[in-house]
Amino acid sequence: PCALGLATPTAIIVGVGKGAREGILVKDAATLEKLHKVNVVVVDKTGTLTKGKPELASLNNLSKQSDAEIIAILASLENKSEHPIAHAIISYAKEKNIGLLPVEQFGMMKGKGISGVINGVKYFVGSAKLAEEHSASLASLEKETSEGKTPVILVVENTVLAIAMIADQIKPEAVSAVKALHSLGIKVVMLTGDDKNTARFIADQVGIDEVVAEVLPEDKLNLIKDLQSGKFENWKLKIGNSSQGLVVAMAGDGVNDAPALAQADVGIAMATGTDVAIESAGITLLHGDISKLVKAIRLSKITMRGIKQNLFW
Ligand code: ADP
Ligand code: MG
Repeated sequence: PCALGLATPTAIIVGVGKGAREGILVKDAATLEKLHKVNVVVVDKTGTLTKGKPELASLNNLSKQSDAEIIAILASLENKSEHPIAHAIISYAKEKNIGLLPVEQFGMMKGKGISGVINGVKYFVGSAKLAEEHSASLASLEKETSEGKTPVILVVENTVLAIAMIADQIKPEAVSAVKALHSLGIKVVMLTGDDKNTARFIADQVGIDEVVAEVLPEDKLNLIKDLQSGKFENWKLKIGNSSQGLVVAMAGDGVNDAPALAQADVGIAMATGTDVAIESAGITLLHGDISKLVKAIRLSKITMRGIKQNLFW
């Protein structure tokens, strides 16, 4: 009976230890057991597939104000946000020695952008969707977005003042990680709050099976639930018998990914990401190295084999 009782924990302890040496930090043993059953991996874009260190690539100033004034407005508003886009704009302003202005009534629209008042004028900064909501007419951004850049639009009272394009680089290891997942028979889905064209470009570069773009944080959670309960007939994704539901792993880094990480069968956070994401996940990958996800799945398979062998002996 002692041998029976030891069979599982010894294999798990060895598995968790091996993972730690490889930069895969496993929070609880149950996670390691579940991981070998996963048949779909859902990933976030910004910070998971891309480096999460975006830069301001261009500024299209449509206003009568100077570029420096526009950057000052953008950077002052973004100074109150923690989004990777905010870092891109603030560091650009610093580089150009552009000072910040005082902001009042700062507000955040989850998954869309931010707002605030500077010198009595109310500004909105965010996605094309946000600009549309303020009925600001917008010329087509298809060229820029189809190159994978994210548009950030500065709106004041139904008018677009400027459009900044933000570019983030794809992690080189993301491409090989997706290939390796495919070779294990696992499908990869990308969920992002970003623009559809931008998302499509990144997904094509990385070899993703299905993309869902312009989703709000709570939608990420619901999409995971749909996959788990087999409600994805409308998806392009074809995995076995879809009515059965899938075992879902979710990899993400942002505050907006936390609910989805907690809902997934296995939540995987990037160590480079936010604390809330790490808190909500069962596994954390050091250096945000997504290729370690494949190693973690292999480790789970080996650990399960170890458990079965131990039980047999
Ligand atoms: P993701 O899934 O890519 O992490 P988010 O839900 O954080 O996306 O954001 C979705 C979109 O909302 C971004 O692509 C951007 O267009 C817009 N957005 C969010 N926060 C900001 C911000 N601080 N400044 C400008 N745009 C923002
Ligand atoms: Mg993210």
